[in-house]
Amino acid sequence: MDRCRLIVGLVLIVASAGFSQDAPANPEALALDAKLIAEAKDHSEIMKNLQYLSDIVGPRLTGSANLRQANDWTASVMKSYGLSNVRLEPWEIPLGWERGTASMKLVDPDNGRSLTVAAAGWTPGTKGKITGPVVILNAKTREDFAKYKGKLKDAIVLRGEPAKVAPITDLTYGPPADPKAKQPEKKTDDKEKKADDKEQPKEPKPVEKKQSIQELQAFRRELSDFLRAEGAAVLLTDSAKPHNLLVTTGTWRGTDRANASEPLPALFVAHEHFALLHRLATRPAPAVTKVEVEITNKFIPGPVTVYNTVGEIPGEKADEFVTIGAHLDSWDLAQGTTDNGTGSCVVLETARVIAKSGVKPKRTIRFVLFTGEEQGLFGSKAYVKRHADEMPKTSVALVHDTGTGKVLGFGLQGREAIKPIMDRELISLKSLGFTGVTLRGSGGTDHLSFEDVGVPGFACNQDMDEYRLTHHTPSDTFDKAKEPNLIQGAQVLAVSLVRVANLPDLLPRQKPGNPKKESGPAPRETTTEKK
Ligand SMILES: [Zn+2]
Repeated sequence: MDRCRLIVGLVLIVASAGFSQDAPANPEALALDAKLIAEAKDHSEIMKNLQYLSDIVGPRLTGSANLRQANDWTASVMKSYGLSNVRLEPWEIPLGWERGTASMKLVDPDNGRSLTVAAAGWTPGTKGKITGPVVILNAKTREDFAKYKGKLKDAIVLRGEPAKVAPITDLTYGPPADPKAKQPEKKTDDKEKKADDKEQPKEPKPVEKKQSIQELQAFRRELSDFLRAEGAAVLLTDSAKPHNLLVTTGTWRGTDRANASEPLPALFVAHEHFALLHRLATRPAPAVTKVEVEITNKFIPGPVTVYNTVGEIPGEKADEFVTIGAHLDSWDLAQGTTDNGTGSCVVLETARVIAKSGVKPKRTIRFVLFTGEEQGLFGSKAYVKRHADEMPKTSVALVHDTGTGKVLGFGLQGREAIKPIMDRELISLKSLGFTGVTLRGSGGTDHLSFEDVGVPGFACNQDMDEYRLTHHTPSDTFDKAKEPNLIQGAQVLAVSLVRVANLPDLLPRQKPGNPKKESGPAPRETTTEKK
């Protein structure tokens, strides 16, 4: 697109949108916006890089050789784009892990059906084939454990009720669900309602206190210890996805605890098969349900050194920063394309576009590909710790980690003072489908490590596209990537970074209002929206 027509177009949008709060539109900044937007559109290298990362490097589990290959390759790409000070920054994980094979088949009723399963990350194998009774465990608190004492020897434990799986149509496209949005009223016809009201006086339903992530993780560990002590053999969790889609997640968290008992072998089961086992196991006695399981995972003794890939475009104020990041590690049931090859390649492309523009930003622009995100944001925490002295002078950290969907906005984690500044500065993005920044907070990815130390850390609010069906599943493959959306992502992030880098001051920092979400992999029962 002819650049001056783009600039004129942007000026017109500025004028028409009456956007600019009282600051006059800055034609130079608009011209630079236009230059960045055009470069990302006309010479994109996103798909070339994403195909290499997906098809040649493949799944990138933290601690694996594939991930190290990805670190080296992304560093070489950053250098080829002209970035300075490109390096691999080491940090350590307590224990490595390698996925082996996992199988499960019904032996009673003996119809030899094999069931669709995948091991949870950082869980052990079964030391050969084992057979055991399927036992349903409905324990939400440690008090519930008592009910199962002495009943779990060699049991294959089915954890909880089958999930309520939304139809695929509800799981795709559109902005991320706003947890605060009012749920549509369940339509009950008046008659029924009146009858209800009349009949039984409403007992205030006990409000179930939402457990924090820490509490849920502690409960998970206690449950694992309890099951171990009771001699249970394997823990089965519902993948809670439609159409036989498996998921996986997991962490080494807690494995380095003093006298930590080795976690129990654990499998994610395709929803249809989890529901089948649940139906069979609820048949009245003397009906018994038995399965045969074999898992062959391997732990790699630690500590294991892993790396974040880092590079930068130095600024006039070299010791002040704006940062963009995405996690390079992935789970390993497929290629890790949308989680998070897309974010990693959008970060590389944003670097290419800004470097190509020749801009000399006022502040240093830092590009970081974190690792260890899937196990609990460990790589970004290590980065923030290693660069603790730079955090007071880091204006913002932007993170792309919701797949191949368009970037619709940024969630400002309740930071009201920043909204008018971003509204003014990001005017050029309206024409790209960027709907604007919101005060909303989001969880589940690396921006939280910055928020935790007071640095404004914002995740991209992206169109969900098919993310709920691809992330952590066997469906996370290169064919799911959508180039126009990823180009738009690089356009949005290039403009946003340069605009914030060139502001007269660092972005204001009032104490983050809520909502502030905790970090780390969300335990199963909360959400699979872990990024
Ligand atoms: Zn992710």
